[in-house]
Amino acid sequence: MNLLFEPFANPTLGIADDQRRFPVHRIYCVGRNYAEHVREMGGTPEKQRPVFFSKPAGAVVESGSSLAYPLATTDLHHEVELVVALGHGGTRLSVDQAQACIAAYAVGVDLTRRDLQHQAKNAGQPWDTAKGFDESAPIGPLRLAADWSPAGQPISLTVDGETRQDGRLDQMILSVPEIIAALSELYELRAGDLIYTGTPHGVGPLQCGQRVSAEITGLPTLSFELQA
Ligand code: MN
Repeated sequence: MNLLFEPFANPTLGIADDQRRFPVHRIYCVGRNYAEHVREMGGTPEKQRPVFFSKPAGAVVESGSSLAYPLATTDLHHEVELVVALGHGGTRLSVDQAQACIAAYAVGVDLTRRDLQHQAKNAGQPWDTAKGFDESAPIGPLRLAADWSPAGQPISLTVDGETRQDGRLDQMILSVPEIIAALSELYELRAGDLIYTGTPHGVGPLQCGQRVSAEITGLPTLSFELQA
């Protein structure tokens, strides 16, 4: 018997106007980072603080992809989010140090198996099966941080041309550098880390055959479709 152990190719992402590829190390995510979204999920933003979770690095999917409807769900939801890509990291970073770690930004969608998340919440169980599944992290091309700033930019998502989510980045409860600083109290952050920074209100279900387009003004558009 011939056992083959082929090297796994680490995921990489394209960068707008740049020939290099960005190697993905980890994917961190923030939940409950926009007050209106906390309310639409039945929560109280004053009581429920932002929460951190993660996805496998291999869950990234680049713009233009056609995705199979995921296993084990009948309630797949879209969550449009600003994604931050780190060029270096560290632990116990100050907010100023955290800001200096940012290499690039992109538009992402935190795909969520909402039915599994409701089950997990009701049972007091972790969110992993709801959040960290295959192809759960669509992401558009990166734009280098030197060329763009998130300050107050609109963020939106359409499904088959109909607007579903429409917010602004300055509605975040924790700002981008505050998120990075808080994560660095929990993990050693590194070059290649991606951070999905939370979704504004308007999350909802996706059906087979639908096209999703996600936009943040000044960043390359993310689009993908669910196979019919
Ligand atoms: Mn999310």
